[in-house]
Amino acid sequence: QTADMRNAASGTRSVSRETSHSVSAEFAGVTKSFGSVKALDNIDLAIEPGEFLTLLGPSGSGKSTLLTLLAGFDQPTSGAIKIGGKVQTHVPPNRRNQGIVFQSYALFPHMNVHDNLAYPLAARGIRGAEREQLIVRALERVRMEAYAERYPSQLSGGQQQRVALARAIVFNPPLLLMDESLSALDRNLREEMQFELKELHERLSATIVFVTHDQAEAVTMSDRIAVLNKGQLVQLGSPSALYKEPANKFVAGFLGEAN
Ligand code: ADP
Ligand code: MG
Repeated sequence: QTADMRNAASGTRSVSRETSHSVSAEFAGVTKSFGSVKALDNIDLAIEPGEFLTLLGPSGSGKSTLLTLLAGFDQPTSGAIKIGGKVQTHVPPNRRNQGIVFQSYALFPHMNVHDNLAYPLAARGIRGAEREQLIVRALERVRMEAYAERYPSQLSGGQQQRVALARAIVFNPPLLLMDESLSALDRNLREEMQFELKELHERLSATIVFVTHDQAEAVTMSDRIAVLNKGQLVQLGSPSALYKEPANKFVAGFLGEAN
């Protein structure tokens, strides 16, 4: 069940949403080769507006490559990527209306927390009181409102992760991309952030594409899970569907490891 369907059911879709509408994202015949390595092999995947979709698979299965192409940091060797129904394959990241939480996209070290969040807002022409309001709200959502004046080096790893999440959501993006964003956190903080992220998903109605190698995390968080192995999309379905009817032994074994 997607956020759109939930919103339609409760009749709140067009009123008081905090964000622009969520968008669909689609991979059509996407292959990505690095020399002789096929990181992605002819991927077809349609992500629904407002859904929480998790890319799950072992290390090296192609999860980050898929997300990197969706974000626009790299281009597929062949195939197309559509966002909101439009081909965006060669549109650069800063021209895509998305929030990203990647390890390679760390906080700006020379800016304090406030200014890290002000940056994507300024880039969108949002200033003054509105900007300050959005910054406070995003920091409250990740419980970091007391740290606005701190610099990244003055924060713990977990705090930096939460600020990175706040920076990604501060402009209410219709699409949020997260690569192993909770993996570095200790267990308690990770569970807290999982809960927060689910809450955010409900409230923002953003489409979220979330990458993890952690089966339990995927099952807890997702509307649907896309299981990748060796660059191929092995199965796509709800967590319960994957448990009840795994497409093959790989999926059964991989999900079984969650217990
Ligand atoms: P995952 O995120 O699931 O661990 P990746 O998408 O990072 O997997 O990698 C998939 C495959 O593509 C791996 O075999 C990896 O070594 C290879 N790969 C990824 N990025 C590059 C790159 N920039 N150059 C060469 N090989 C790469
Ligand atoms: Mg990865």
